[in-house]
Amino acid sequence: MTSRNQELFTRAQLRIPAGVNSPVRAFRAVGGTPPFFERAAGAYLWDVEGRRYLDYVGSWGPMVAGHTHSAVVAAVQAAAARALSFGAPTEAEIELAEAICRLVPSVEMVRLVSSGTEATMSAIRLARGFTGRDAIVKFEGCYHGHADSLLVKAGSGALTFGNPSSAGVPAATAAHTVVLDYNDIGAVHALFAARGAEIACVIVEPVAGNMNLVLPAPGFLDALREQCTRHGALLLFDEVMTGFRVATGGAQQRFGITPDLTTLGKVIGGGLPVGAFGGRRDVMQRIAPLGPVYQAGTLSGNPVAVAAGLATLALVEAPGFQQKVEGATRALIDGLSAEARKAGVVFSAQSIGSMFGIYFRATPPASFAEVMQCDRERFNRFFHEMLDRGVYLAPSAYEAGFVSAAHGQAEIEATLAAARAAFAAVA
Ligand SMILES: *Cc1c(COP(=O)(O)O)cnc(C)c1O
Repeated sequence: MTSRNQELFTRAQLRIPAGVNSPVRAFRAVGGTPPFFERAAGAYLWDVEGRRYLDYVGSWGPMVAGHTHSAVVAAVQAAAARALSFGAPTEAEIELAEAICRLVPSVEMVRLVSSGTEATMSAIRLARGFTGRDAIVKFEGCYHGHADSLLVKAGSGALTFGNPSSAGVPAATAAHTVVLDYNDIGAVHALFAARGAEIACVIVEPVAGNMNLVLPAPGFLDALREQCTRHGALLLFDEVMTGFRVATGGAQQRFGITPDLTTLGKVIGGGLPVGAFGGRRDVMQRIAPLGPVYQAGTLSGNPVAVAAGLATLALVEAPGFQQKVEGATRALIDGLSAEARKAGVVFSAQSIGSMFGIYFRATPPASFAEVMQCDRERFNRFFHEMLDRGVYLAPSAYEAGFVSAAHGQAEIEATLAAARAAFAAVA
């Protein structure tokens, strides 16, 4: 008998490429049939077969307050009853902009958009328009959405131009993107020494969360700040994932670095489509209609999405929120490490704020190359052992995990009980 999940997956694949609207959802990395979800509450998801899962994906980051939080749902319902969209100014947009600027002080002015991809794409255009330069610098393994100029990974040498990592990206576009190794301070110095005057901006995930979780090495972010300042390039922190997660004020608060531009997404929409880019006032004033850099959006600042974002940020900045979710995340990774040790599995884990990484290698990786050394086959088996026990981890060894404020002691203990059996099964 085919399951309802299998039935839907088969049907989906007839009309949607691979049956999904974003690639990782297809479970290609781990194999098997993805559950089709029906509802969610707090730390839990339910699929169409009525199975319950403890969720460590959190819609890939946004659900930091937990699913269907009553305050967020009420705000969305009230906003939806007033209007779905105006395409014209509202007071709530100012409130969200003010909240962002208050929580992330390097952001003096901000534009709202509808996704992280739109935010980074627009911020790159702004950096180029402001500096009058074309080259941008990114780091291997960092994901900044799917705009052409950012879909480029490393060439071999630190000073070589990148090749597109997707079909359909013109070589001429990719040629303006220089890719360096994450945490390689020497390569940053060498590049700026050779070509500093050509570089519009450096874009970086200040904590990398799209190649599993990789922390910035001591001095790495400082070196980016120093080199950008010295050579007149802008430093762009892509905090779409880390914003309001690594700390209330994002990674820039945690590490004490002030970027020129910041991109946000995920948490600021609380589960609805919101992105934002902002930063120095003199740079943001180059945006149309104040300046010559064009950027626009029919649904930008959508009142329903803004309501979800405002309600979520109000929860996030409440006293004790960050400490609670951070404590739960640490308890999770300490417990997982202890269970792996008992089972004799080569494993390591780490967390920062409410993001975590689990690695089937002895120590947490510090670079893309080290991430690639993880035992992916063992992760895939572990993933399915956990899924069978009702724990939903990201279906790839190369994604960070997310904890929400709805993950309490009972949820962590249930996860560790499942992990005990799962580690034993993959040992
Ligand atoms: C998710 C993500 C993006 C892209 O955001 P979308 O809303 O998926 O377009 C960009 N940058 C980082 C760091 C992300 O984690």
